[in-house]
Amino acid sequence: MRLILLGPPGAGKGTQAQRIVEKYGIPQLSTGDMLRAAVQAGTEVGKRAKAVMDAGKLVSDDIVIAIVSERIDQPDCENGFILDGFPRTLVQADATEAMLKGKGLELSKVVEIQVDDKILADRVSGRYTCANCGAGYHDTNVKPKVEGVCDRCGSTHFKRRPDDNRETVVTRLGAYYKETSPLIGYYYAKGKLQSVDGMADIDHLTGEIEGILSKL
Ligand code: ADP
Ligand code: ADP
Ligand code: ZN
Repeated sequence: MRLILLGPPGAGKGTQAQRIVEKYGIPQLSTGDMLRAAVQAGTEVGKRAKAVMDAGKLVSDDIVIAIVSERIDQPDCENGFILDGFPRTLVQADATEAMLKGKGLELSKVVEIQVDDKILADRVSGRYTCANCGAGYHDTNVKPKVEGVCDRCGSTHFKRRPDDNRETVVTRLGAYYKETSPLIGYYYAKGKLQSVDGMADIDHLTGEIEGILSKL
């Protein structure tokens, strides 16, 4: 199964991707996570990407396409993968198609998570993750069962992203509408698009996505 999760920042792509990983055992390929790892490691790519990411703008197509292209050649992607946050431009979408074609593979589905713009700033600014296992939380929407302790791994260390603030949300949403939203029509025309209501609660949404995947 080769899946793309599409939606604005804070829509719930990462949250749903983690659940698909658990159920189907295929990896989540988040270009945001990969770029943040490059920034952390201080690589050449990380140095070039940091300021762009902090400002809420898009990193260049060349960089992200190269990262994904290398990643999907890894053995754990053999049975499929979930692309989370990629492709984000038409250039990236064409490159994805070429990449898959070159390997004799086809995209299974594009799931677009739809949410009202007005809740995105709350979703993004309240987001935090476990520093140890990456489990996702939210200040009001998704709290750990025991305050300050990760449900999944028991860690007491959490982190927030430097770009997750109300100021960058405006820029990021602008980038989404300008560069990424054209992909909705692009995949609709290919008969690959399925849209789901991202305003629903997390479990309900997972059920809906599983319903779509079970028909593949
Ligand atoms: P979110 O899930 O909130 O949309 P991501 O973690 O996917 O955020 O991305 C964080 C930042 O990393 C983006 O604002 C952008 O600067 C960069 N980035 C991630 N994926 C891409 C991509 N496919 N193309 C260009 N830039 C990207
Ligand atoms: P994305 O990867 O699309 O940027 P995330 O999956 O990181 O979005 O979700 C953004 C924030 O909103 C996280 O803090 C997450 O816990 C929370 N969240 C995700 N889905 C929902 C939902 N359906 N209802 C309420 N909060 C949600
Ligand atoms: Zn954890």
